[in-house]
Amino acid sequence: MPLDRREGSLEMKRRDFNQQLQRSAIALALAPWTTAIALPTEEARVWLTNPFALGVASGRPRADSVVLWTRLLFSEEDRATTGGRALRVQVEVFADAALQQRVQKKEIITDDTRGHSVHVHVQHLQPSTDYWYRFRQGHALSAVGHTRTAPALNADVPQLRMALASCQHYEQGQYLAHQEIAQQKLDFVLFVGDYIYESSNPQYAVRQHNGEEPKTLSQYRERYEQYKRDPFLQAAHAAHPWVLMWDDHEVVNDYANDQDRKYTEPQQLLKRRAAAYQAYFEHQPLLLGPDANNPANMRLYDQLSWGKLADVWTLDCRQYRSPQACRDPVRGGGRMVVQCDELGDASRSMLGQEQERWLSAALSASKRTWKLVAQATQISSTSVPTPIGRSYWNDAWDGYPEARKRLLQTVVDAKLQNVVTLGGDVHCNVAAPLRLEPNNPLSPIVASEFVTTSITSRGLGDKPAAVIRESNADLLHYRSDERGYSLITVTPTQVRCDFRTTKFPAGSEPGLKTQASFVVKSGKAGPQVI
Ligand code: FE
Ligand code: CA
Repeated sequence: MPLDRREGSLEMKRRDFNQQLQRSAIALALAPWTTAIALPTEEARVWLTNPFALGVASGRPRADSVVLWTRLLFSEEDRATTGGRALRVQVEVFADAALQQRVQKKEIITDDTRGHSVHVHVQHLQPSTDYWYRFRQGHALSAVGHTRTAPALNADVPQLRMALASCQHYEQGQYLAHQEIAQQKLDFVLFVGDYIYESSNPQYAVRQHNGEEPKTLSQYRERYEQYKRDPFLQAAHAAHPWVLMWDDHEVVNDYANDQDRKYTEPQQLLKRRAAAYQAYFEHQPLLLGPDANNPANMRLYDQLSWGKLADVWTLDCRQYRSPQACRDPVRGGGRMVVQCDELGDASRSMLGQEQERWLSAALSASKRTWKLVAQATQISSTSVPTPIGRSYWNDAWDGYPEARKRLLQTVVDAKLQNVVTLGGDVHCNVAAPLRLEPNNPLSPIVASEFVTTSITSRGLGDKPAAVIRESNADLLHYRSDERGYSLITVTPTQVRCDFRTTKFPAGSEPGLKTQASFVVKSGKAGPQVI
Protein backbone atom coordinates (compact mmCIF):
# COMPACT_ATOMS: atom_id res chain seq x y z
CA MET A 1 0.00 0.00 0.00
CA PRO A 2 1.60 3.30 -1.06
CA LEU A 3 1.86 5.91 1.67
CA ASP A 4 -0.29 8.96 1.39
CA ARG A 5 1.99 11.97 1.53
CA ARG A 6 -0.86 14.33 2.31
CA GLU A 7 -1.27 12.82 5.75
CA GLY A 8 0.53 14.36 8.71
CA SER A 9 1.01 18.08 8.90
CA LEU A 10 3.88 19.75 7.18
CA GLU A 11 4.37 21.76 10.35
CA MET A 12 5.12 18.60 12.32
CA LYS A 13 7.55 17.37 9.72
CA ARG A 14 9.25 20.74 9.73
CA ARG A 15 9.48 20.68 13.53
CA ASP A 16 11.03 17.20 13.42
CA PHE A 17 13.48 18.27 10.84
CA ASN A 18 14.43 21.33 12.87
CA GLN A 19 14.95 19.17 15.94
CA GLN A 20 17.27 16.96 13.98
CA LEU A 21 19.21 19.99 12.84
CA GLN A 22 19.61 21.21 16.38
CA ARG A 23 20.94 17.88 17.49
CA SER A 24 23.88 17.78 15.20
CA ALA A 25 26.49 20.41 14.53
CA ILE A 26 27.35 18.64 11.32
CA ALA A 27 23.73 18.74 10.23
CA LEU A 28 23.80 22.52 10.51
CA ALA A 29 26.18 22.55 7.59
CA LEU A 30 23.76 20.53 5.50
CA ALA A 31 21.31 21.70 2.92
CA PRO A 32 18.40 23.88 4.03
CA TRP A 33 14.81 22.67 4.18
CA THR A 34 14.10 23.51 0.54
CA THR A 35 16.85 21.18 -0.60
CA ALA A 36 15.66 18.49 1.77
CA ILE A 37 12.22 18.29 0.17
CA ALA A 38 13.87 18.10 -3.23
CA LEU A 39 15.42 14.73 -2.31
CA PRO A 40 14.72 12.03 -4.90
CA THR A 41 11.71 9.89 -4.17
CA GLU A 42 12.71 6.76 -2.31
CA GLU A 43 9.37 5.00 -2.24
CA ALA A 44 10.27 2.71 -5.10
CA ARG A 45 13.61 1.61 -3.67
CA VAL A 46 14.02 -2.14 -3.65
CA TRP A 47 16.49 -3.34 -1.04
CA LEU A 48 18.50 -6.49 -1.63
CA THR A 49 18.78 -6.88 2.13
CA ASN A 50 16.29 -5.47 4.62
CA PRO A 51 18.01 -2.38 6.10
CA PHE A 52 16.12 -2.70 9.43
CA ALA A 53 18.50 -5.43 10.62
CA LEU A 54 19.07 -3.79 14.00
CA GLY A 55 15.41 -3.90 14.95
CA VAL A 56 13.25 -1.17 16.43
CA ALA A 57 12.97 0.43 19.85
CA SER A 58 10.97 2.93 21.84
CA GLY A 59 11.89 4.94 24.88
CA ARG A 60 11.46 8.00 27.06
CA PRO A 61 7.78 7.26 27.74
CA ARG A 62 5.72 10.27 28.78
CA ALA A 63 1.96 10.69 29.24
CA ASP A 64 1.62 12.13 25.73
CA SER A 65 4.75 11.09 23.89
CA VAL A 66 7.37 8.48 23.22
CA VAL A 67 10.56 8.32 21.16
CA LEU A 68 10.72 5.69 18.42
CA TRP A 69 14.04 4.45 17.08
CA THR A 70 15.56 2.45 14.32
CA ARG A 71 18.77 2.58 12.32
CA LEU A 72 19.23 1.69 8.69
CA LEU A 73 22.08 -0.69 8.04
CA PHE A 74 23.18 -1.40 4.47
CA SER A 75 24.55 -4.56 2.92
CA GLU A 76 27.60 -4.10 0.67
CA GLU A 77 25.43 -4.25 -2.45
CA ASP A 78 22.86 -1.81 -1.11
CA ARG A 79 25.55 0.56 0.14
CA ALA A 80 26.94 0.71 -3.39
CA THR A 81 23.68 2.25 -4.63
CA THR A 82 22.84 4.22 -1.48
CA GLY A 83 26.19 5.50 -0.30
CA GLY A 84 25.93 8.10 2.42
CA ARG A 85 22.85 9.69 0.84
CA ALA A 86 20.01 11.15 2.83
CA LEU A 87 16.99 8.87 2.93
CA ARG A 88 13.38 9.37 3.85
CA VAL A 89 11.99 6.95 6.41
CA GLN A 90 8.33 6.67 7.26
CA VAL A 91 6.97 5.57 10.59
CA GLU A 92 3.38 4.59 11.26
CA VAL A 93 1.85 4.41 14.74
CA PHE A 94 -1.19 2.23 15.36
CA ALA A 95 -3.69 1.81 18.20
CA ASP A 96 -3.94 -1.95 17.66
CA ALA A 97 -1.61 -4.91 17.27
CA ALA A 98 -3.26 -5.84 13.99
CA LEU A 99 -2.11 -2.48 12.57
CA GLN A 100 -5.64 -1.59 11.41
CA GLN A 101 -6.13 1.67 13.28
CA ARG A 102 -3.38 4.06 12.29
CA VAL A 103 -3.19 7.11 14.55
CA GLN A 104 -0.10 8.83 13.15
CA LYS A 105 2.23 8.75 10.22
CA LYS A 106 5.46 10.70 10.05
CA GLU A 107 8.32 10.99 7.65
CA ILE A 108 11.81 11.92 8.65
CA ILE A 109 15.09 12.27 6.84
CA THR A 110 18.29 10.63 7.97
CA ASP A 111 21.80 10.39 6.58
CA ASP A 112 25.35 9.26 7.20
CA THR A 113 26.16 12.06 9.69
CA ARG A 114 23.98 10.21 12.21
CA GLY A 115 24.78 6.73 10.95
CA HIS A 116 21.35 6.63 9.26
CA SER A 117 19.78 6.37 12.70
CA VAL A 118 16.16 7.42 13.04
CA HIS A 119 14.69 9.08 16.13
CA VAL A 120 11.06 10.10 16.01
CA HIS A 121 9.45 12.05 18.84
CA VAL A 122 5.83 10.99 18.57
CA GLN A 123 3.58 13.44 20.41
CA HIS A 124 -0.14 13.98 21.06
CA LEU A 125 -0.60 10.43 22.32
CA GLN A 126 -3.02 9.26 25.02
CA PRO A 127 -1.77 8.44 28.54
CA SER A 128 -1.47 4.81 29.76
CA THR A 129 -2.10 3.56 26.25
CA ASP A 130 -0.58 0.81 24.15
CA TYR A 131 0.71 1.62 20.67
CA TRP A 132 2.32 -0.39 17.89
CA TYR A 133 4.68 1.05 15.30
CA ARG A 134 6.65 0.14 12.22
CA PHE A 135 9.13 1.85 9.93
CA ARG A 136 9.29 1.78 6.15
CA GLN A 137 11.95 2.70 3.61
CA GLY A 138 11.10 2.02 -0.02
CA HIS A 139 9.88 -1.56 -0.18
CA ALA A 140 11.43 -2.53 3.14
CA LEU A 141 9.41 -2.79 6.34
CA SER A 142 10.81 -3.01 9.84
CA ALA A 143 9.64 -5.38 12.54
CA VAL A 144 6.61 -4.15 14.48
CA GLY A 145 7.33 -2.65 17.88
CA HIS A 146 5.02 -2.23 20.87
CA THR A 147 5.20 0.70 23.22
CA ARG A 148 3.16 2.25 25.99
CA THR A 149 2.78 5.80 27.25
CA ALA A 150 3.13 6.88 30.89
CA PRO A 151 0.04 7.65 32.96
CA ALA A 152 -1.29 11.20 33.23
CA LEU A 153 0.63 13.12 35.92
CA ASN A 154 -2.40 13.29 38.24
CA ALA A 155 -3.59 9.70 37.65
CA ASP A 156 -4.09 7.21 40.45
CA VAL A 157 -1.97 4.32 39.25
CA PRO A 158 -2.51 0.87 40.77
CA GLN A 159 0.81 -0.55 39.57
CA LEU A 160 4.10 0.15 37.81
CA ARG A 161 5.95 -2.92 36.60
CA MET A 162 9.46 -2.72 35.20
CA ALA A 163 12.48 -4.87 34.43
CA LEU A 164 15.68 -3.50 35.99
CA ALA A 165 18.71 -4.58 33.95
CA SER A 166 22.38 -3.82 33.39
CA CYS A 167 25.71 -5.22 32.18
CA GLN A 168 25.26 -7.31 29.06
CA HIS A 169 28.75 -8.35 27.99
CA TYR A 170 28.08 -9.98 24.62
CA GLU A 171 30.94 -12.43 24.93
CA GLN A 172 30.07 -13.71 28.39
CA GLY A 173 26.68 -15.29 27.80
CA GLN A 174 23.42 -15.48 25.91
CA TYR A 175 20.69 -12.89 26.46
CA LEU A 176 18.28 -15.29 28.18
CA ALA A 177 17.17 -12.47 30.46
CA HIS A 178 16.06 -10.42 27.45
CA GLN A 179 14.20 -13.41 26.07
CA GLU A 180 12.16 -13.47 29.27
CA ILE A 181 11.87 -9.68 29.55
CA ALA A 182 10.35 -9.63 26.07
CA GLN A 183 7.61 -12.00 27.29
CA GLN A 184 6.77 -10.08 30.46
CA LYS A 185 3.97 -7.56 30.77
CA LEU A 186 5.85 -4.39 31.69
CA ASP A 187 5.48 -0.65 31.61
CA PHE A 188 9.14 -0.26 30.69
CA VAL A 189 12.64 -1.67 30.90
CA LEU A 190 14.97 0.36 33.12
CA PHE A 191 18.51 -0.24 31.87
CA VAL A 192 21.18 1.25 34.13
CA GLY A 193 24.35 0.80 32.11
CA ASP A 194 27.02 -1.31 30.43
CA TYR A 195 24.86 -1.80 27.34
CA ILE A 196 27.99 -2.62 25.33
CA TYR A 197 31.45 -3.58 26.53
CA GLU A 198 34.45 -2.09 24.83
CA SER A 199 36.80 -4.73 26.24
CA SER A 200 37.16 -8.49 26.02
CA ASN A 201 38.13 -11.20 28.45
CA PRO A 202 38.76 -14.27 26.25
CA GLN A 203 38.84 -16.54 29.31
CA TYR A 204 35.07 -16.16 29.77
CA ALA A 205 33.95 -15.82 26.15
CA VAL A 206 31.16 -18.05 24.89
CA ARG A 207 30.91 -15.89 21.75
CA GLN A 208 33.22 -13.30 20.25
CA HIS A 209 33.19 -9.56 19.76
CA ASN A 210 33.94 -8.51 16.18
CA GLY A 211 36.83 -6.13 15.74
CA GLU A 212 39.18 -4.61 18.24
CA GLU A 213 38.45 -2.35 21.20
CA PRO A 214 36.41 0.59 19.83
CA LYS A 215 37.84 4.08 20.02
CA THR A 216 36.38 5.82 16.97
CA LEU A 217 32.77 6.49 15.98
CA SER A 218 32.81 3.83 13.26
CA GLN A 219 34.25 1.28 15.70
CA TYR A 220 31.65 2.04 18.37
CA ARG A 221 28.94 1.80 15.69
CA GLU A 222 30.20 -1.65 14.73
CA ARG A 223 30.11 -2.74 18.35
CA TYR A 224 26.47 -1.62 18.73
CA GLU A 225 25.61 -3.28 15.42
CA GLN A 226 26.83 -6.59 16.78
CA TYR A 227 24.91 -6.25 20.06
CA LYS A 228 21.77 -4.99 18.35
CA ARG A 229 21.70 -7.98 16.01
CA ASP A 230 21.03 -10.27 18.96
CA PRO A 231 17.46 -11.54 18.52
CA PHE A 232 16.64 -11.59 22.26
CA LEU A 233 17.87 -8.03 22.76
CA GLN A 234 15.85 -6.95 19.71
CA ALA A 235 12.78 -8.68 21.13
CA ALA A 236 13.10 -6.88 24.48
CA HIS A 237 13.36 -3.54 22.67
CA ALA A 238 10.44 -4.31 20.37
CA ALA A 239 8.26 -5.37 23.30
CA HIS A 240 8.62 -2.39 25.68
CA PRO A 241 9.79 1.20 25.91
CA TRP A 242 13.20 1.52 27.57
CA VAL A 243 14.36 4.10 30.09
CA LEU A 244 18.10 4.34 29.73
CA MET A 245 21.18 5.27 31.70
CA TRP A 246 24.76 4.44 30.80
CA ASP A 247 27.72 3.41 32.94
CA ASP A 248 31.41 3.16 32.06
CA HIS A 249 31.70 0.45 29.41
CA GLU A 250 29.72 2.46 26.87
CA VAL A 251 32.99 4.45 26.66
CA VAL A 252 35.80 2.62 28.48
CA ASN A 253 36.08 0.64 31.71
CA ASP A 254 36.14 2.76 34.89
CA TYR A 255 36.33 6.11 33.17
CA ALA A 256 35.54 9.09 35.38
CA ASN A 257 34.64 12.30 33.54
CA ASP A 258 37.80 12.97 31.46
CA GLN A 259 40.04 10.37 33.14
CA ASP A 260 40.61 6.72 32.35
CA ARG A 261 42.66 3.90 33.80
CA LYS A 262 45.56 4.55 31.46
CA TYR A 263 45.78 8.25 32.33
CA THR A 264 45.09 9.09 28.71
CA GLU A 265 45.52 12.80 28.02
CA PRO A 266 42.07 14.29 28.88
CA GLN A 267 41.53 16.01 25.51
CA GLN A 268 42.16 12.69 23.79
CA LEU A 269 39.81 10.82 26.12
CA LEU A 270 37.11 13.44 25.55
CA LYS A 271 37.41 12.80 21.79
CA ARG A 272 36.84 9.12 22.45
CA ARG A 273 33.95 9.98 24.79
CA ALA A 274 32.37 12.13 22.06
CA ALA A 275 32.55 9.22 19.59
CA ALA A 276 31.11 6.83 22.19
CA TYR A 277 28.28 9.19 23.17
CA GLN A 278 27.38 9.81 19.52
CA ALA A 279 27.24 6.06 18.87
CA TYR A 280 25.16 5.57 22.04
CA PHE A 281 22.65 8.16 20.84
CA GLU A 282 22.53 6.65 17.35
CA HIS A 283 21.51 3.28 18.81
CA GLN A 284 19.01 4.23 21.49
CA PRO A 285 15.50 5.69 21.60
CA LEU A 286 16.61 9.05 23.00
CA LEU A 287 15.33 12.53 22.36
CA LEU A 288 18.67 14.31 22.52
CA GLY A 289 22.18 13.38 21.48
CA PRO A 290 25.52 15.01 22.25
CA ASP A 291 25.65 18.75 22.80
CA ALA A 292 26.08 20.30 19.34
CA ASN A 293 28.62 22.80 20.66
CA ASN A 294 30.52 20.30 22.75
CA PRO A 295 30.05 16.74 21.45
CA ALA A 296 31.91 15.18 24.40
CA ASN A 297 28.95 16.29 26.56
CA MET A 298 25.54 14.69 26.49
CA ARG A 299 22.87 15.15 29.10
CA LEU A 300 21.29 11.80 29.83
CA TYR A 301 20.10 12.25 33.42
CA ASP A 302 16.37 12.72 33.60
CA GLN A 303 13.19 12.53 35.66
CA LEU A 304 10.12 10.50 34.77
CA SER A 305 6.86 10.77 36.72
CA TRP A 306 4.44 7.86 36.81
CA GLY A 307 1.03 9.28 37.73
CA LYS A 308 0.74 9.89 41.47
CA LEU A 309 2.54 6.61 42.13
CA ALA A 310 6.22 7.34 41.53
CA ASP A 311 8.95 9.68 40.43
CA VAL A 312 11.88 7.98 38.75
CA TRP A 313 15.26 9.68 38.45
CA THR A 314 17.96 8.27 36.19
CA LEU A 315 21.37 9.49 37.37
CA ASP A 316 24.55 9.80 35.35
CA CYS A 317 27.36 8.50 37.57
CA ARG A 318 30.16 8.73 34.97
CA GLN A 319 30.18 11.92 32.96
CA TYR A 320 30.60 14.40 35.82
CA ARG A 321 32.22 12.40 38.64
CA SER A 322 35.50 13.15 40.39
CA PRO A 323 38.28 10.68 39.63
CA GLN A 324 38.39 7.61 41.88
CA ALA A 325 40.15 8.26 45.19
CA CYS A 326 43.72 7.06 45.74
CA ARG A 327 44.18 5.66 42.27
CA ASP A 328 47.14 3.45 41.48
CA PRO A 329 49.61 5.77 39.72
CA VAL A 330 50.28 3.22 37.00
CA ARG A 331 46.90 1.57 36.54
CA GLY A 332 44.12 3.98 37.45
CA GLY A 333 40.38 3.40 37.71
CA GLY A 334 38.68 1.14 40.23
CA ARG A 335 40.49 -0.76 42.97
CA MET A 336 40.22 -1.57 46.66
CA VAL A 337 41.72 1.28 48.71
CA VAL A 338 42.73 1.35 52.35
CA GLN A 339 43.95 4.26 54.51
CA CYS A 340 42.87 6.64 51.77
CA ASP A 341 42.37 10.18 53.13
CA GLU A 342 41.02 11.36 49.79
CA LEU A 343 37.80 9.44 50.51
CA GLY A 344 36.95 12.04 53.14
CA ASP A 345 37.32 15.00 50.77
CA ALA A 346 33.87 16.61 50.76
CA SER A 347 34.49 18.36 47.44
CA ARG A 348 34.53 15.02 45.63
CA SER A 349 31.36 14.22 43.72
CA MET A 350 29.69 11.23 42.06
CA LEU A 351 27.12 13.26 40.14
CA GLY A 352 28.84 16.62 39.64
CA GLN A 353 27.53 19.77 41.31
CA GLU A 354 24.85 20.60 38.78
CA GLN A 355 23.25 17.16 38.70
CA GLU A 356 23.53 16.88 42.48
CA ARG A 357 21.69 20.20 42.98
CA TRP A 358 19.08 19.21 40.40
CA LEU A 359 18.45 15.87 42.13
CA SER A 360 18.36 17.36 45.60
CA ALA A 361 15.78 19.98 44.56
CA ALA A 362 13.62 17.51 42.65
CA LEU A 363 13.79 14.83 45.33
CA SER A 364 12.92 17.30 48.09
CA ALA A 365 9.95 18.60 46.10
CA SER A 366 8.56 15.20 45.11
CA LYS A 367 5.00 14.54 46.28
CA ARG A 368 4.61 11.16 44.64
CA THR A 369 4.26 8.03 46.78
CA TRP A 370 7.53 6.42 45.71
CA LYS A 371 10.81 8.10 44.92
CA LEU A 372 12.82 5.71 42.77
CA VAL A 373 16.43 6.76 42.28
CA ALA A 374 17.96 4.78 39.43
CA GLN A 375 21.71 5.08 39.14
CA ALA A 376 24.49 3.08 37.58
CA THR A 377 26.24 1.43 40.52
CA GLN A 378 25.93 0.39 44.19
CA ILE A 379 25.21 2.76 47.09
CA SER A 380 25.41 0.32 50.02
CA SER A 381 28.86 -0.53 51.34
CA THR A 382 30.98 -3.54 50.31
CA SER A 383 34.03 -2.69 52.40
CA VAL A 384 36.16 -5.42 53.96
CA PRO A 385 38.40 -5.40 57.05
CA THR A 386 42.19 -5.65 56.64
CA PRO A 387 44.97 -5.55 59.27
CA ILE A 388 45.53 -1.86 58.45
CA GLY A 389 41.91 -0.73 58.31
CA ARG A 390 38.83 -1.19 56.13
CA SER A 391 39.28 -1.47 52.42
CA TYR A 392 36.80 0.19 50.02
CA TRP A 393 35.92 -0.35 46.35
CA ASN A 394 36.65 3.15 45.08
CA ASP A 395 34.59 3.01 41.87
CA ALA A 396 31.13 2.65 43.50
CA TRP A 397 29.55 4.98 46.09
CA ASP A 398 31.91 3.51 48.74
CA GLY A 399 34.55 5.55 46.94
CA TYR A 400 32.44 8.71 47.23
CA PRO A 401 31.28 8.51 50.87
CA GLU A 402 30.79 12.25 51.32
CA ALA A 403 28.64 12.44 48.18
CA ARG A 404 26.65 9.44 49.45
CA LYS A 405 26.15 11.15 52.79
CA ARG A 406 24.86 14.30 51.04
CA LEU A 407 22.41 12.25 48.98
CA LEU A 408 21.05 10.44 52.04
CA GLN A 409 21.05 13.63 54.14
CA THR A 410 18.79 15.18 51.49
CA VAL A 411 16.35 12.37 52.15
CA VAL A 412 16.51 13.06 55.90
CA ASP A 413 16.30 16.85 55.60
CA ALA A 414 13.27 16.71 53.31
CA LYS A 415 11.70 14.09 55.62
CA LEU A 416 11.20 11.82 52.63
CA GLN A 417 9.69 8.41 53.01
CA ASN A 418 9.70 5.71 50.37
CA VAL A 419 13.02 6.39 48.67
CA VAL A 420 14.20 3.28 46.83
CA THR A 421 17.44 3.24 44.87
CA LEU A 422 17.88 0.95 41.88
CA GLY A 423 21.37 0.14 40.62
CA GLY A 424 23.59 -2.14 38.55
CA ASP A 425 27.27 -2.28 37.56
CA VAL A 426 28.54 -4.68 40.22
CA HIS A 427 27.18 -7.90 38.63
CA CYS A 428 25.51 -8.83 41.86
CA ASN A 429 22.00 -8.97 43.29
CA VAL A 430 21.82 -6.73 46.33
CA ALA A 431 19.04 -5.86 48.77
CA ALA A 432 20.12 -3.48 51.51
CA PRO A 433 18.86 -0.82 53.86
CA LEU A 434 20.60 2.52 53.36
CA ARG A 435 21.75 4.21 56.56
CA LEU A 436 23.45 7.57 56.98
CA GLU A 437 26.35 5.54 58.41
CA PRO A 438 26.61 2.24 56.54
CA ASN A 439 26.57 -0.90 58.69
CA ASN A 440 25.96 1.02 61.91
CA PRO A 441 22.84 -0.54 63.44
CA LEU A 442 22.33 2.61 65.50
CA SER A 443 22.21 4.81 62.40
CA PRO A 444 18.63 5.14 61.11
CA ILE A 445 17.59 3.46 57.87
CA VAL A 446 16.59 6.28 55.53
CA ALA A 447 16.13 4.49 52.20
CA SER A 448 16.20 1.07 50.53
CA GLU A 449 18.43 -0.30 47.81
CA PHE A 450 18.04 -2.94 45.13
CA VAL A 451 20.91 -3.62 42.76
CA THR A 452 20.37 -5.99 39.86
CA THR A 453 22.84 -8.59 38.74
CA SER A 454 24.21 -8.54 35.20
CA ILE A 455 22.38 -9.86 32.17
CA THR A 456 25.54 -11.81 31.24
CA SER A 457 28.71 -10.24 32.66
CA ARG A 458 30.78 -12.40 34.99
CA GLY A 459 30.41 -11.70 38.70
CA LEU A 460 32.79 -11.67 41.62
CA GLY A 461 34.09 -15.09 42.74
CA ASP A 462 32.31 -16.96 45.56
CA LYS A 463 35.06 -16.39 48.12
CA PRO A 464 35.42 -12.60 47.89
CA ALA A 465 31.62 -12.33 47.66
CA ALA A 466 31.30 -14.31 50.91
CA VAL A 467 33.87 -12.07 52.64
CA ILE A 468 31.96 -8.96 51.53
CA ARG A 469 28.66 -10.43 52.68
CA GLU A 470 30.06 -11.33 56.09
CA SER A 471 31.75 -7.95 56.51
CA ASN A 472 28.71 -5.78 55.83
CA ALA A 473 25.76 -6.22 58.18
CA ASP A 474 23.58 -4.09 55.88
CA LEU A 475 23.82 -6.59 53.00
CA LEU A 476 20.54 -8.40 53.50
CA HIS A 477 21.12 -10.12 50.18
CA TYR A 478 24.35 -10.23 48.18
CA ARG A 479 24.85 -12.83 45.44
CA SER A 480 27.27 -12.53 42.56
CA ASP A 481 27.08 -16.08 41.17
CA GLU A 482 24.03 -15.80 38.89
CA ARG A 483 23.03 -13.70 35.90
CA GLY A 484 19.65 -12.18 35.08
CA TYR A 485 17.51 -9.14 35.75
CA SER A 486 15.13 -7.86 38.42
CA LEU A 487 11.40 -7.54 38.17
CA ILE A 488 10.29 -4.44 40.09
CA THR A 489 6.59 -4.09 40.92
CA VAL A 490 5.50 -0.82 42.47
CA THR A 491 2.06 -0.38 44.04
CA PRO A 492 0.78 2.30 46.43
CA THR A 493 1.59 0.03 49.41
CA GLN A 494 4.92 -1.58 48.46
CA VAL A 495 7.82 -2.01 46.07
CA ARG A 496 8.55 -5.63 45.32
CA CYS A 497 11.79 -6.91 43.80
CA ASP A 498 12.07 -10.39 42.30
CA PHE A 499 15.63 -11.32 41.34
CA ARG A 500 15.21 -13.47 38.20
CA THR A 501 18.36 -15.45 37.54
CA THR A 502 20.12 -18.18 35.62
CA LYS A 503 23.50 -19.90 35.95
CA PHE A 504 26.72 -18.36 34.63
CA PRO A 505 27.34 -18.33 31.73
CA ALA A 506 23.77 -17.41 30.79
CA GLY A 507 22.57 -19.98 28.30
CA SER A 508 24.15 -22.96 30.06
CA GLU A 509 20.75 -23.88 31.50
CA PRO A 510 17.33 -23.11 30.06
CA GLY A 511 15.27 -20.29 31.50
CA LEU A 512 15.35 -18.20 34.67
CA LYS A 513 14.08 -18.76 38.19
CA THR A 514 13.46 -16.48 41.14
CA GLN A 515 16.62 -16.32 43.27
CA ALA A 516 14.96 -14.29 46.03
CA SER A 517 12.19 -11.73 46.53
CA PHE A 518 12.04 -8.66 48.75
CA VAL A 519 9.54 -5.92 49.51
CA VAL A 520 9.79 -2.40 50.82
CA LYS A 521 6.57 -1.43 52.57
CA SER A 522 5.29 2.11 52.28
CA GLY A 523 6.34 4.13 55.33
CA LYS A 524 8.97 1.62 56.46
CA ALA A 525 12.43 2.04 54.96
CA GLY A 526 14.53 -1.06 54.34
CA PRO A 527 13.85 -4.20 52.27
CA GLN A 528 12.28 -7.26 53.90
CA VAL A 529 12.66 -10.78 52.57
CA ILE A 530 9.49 -12.59 51.48
FE1 FE B 1 29.23 -4.18 34.03
CA1 CA C 1 30.20 -0.73 35.03
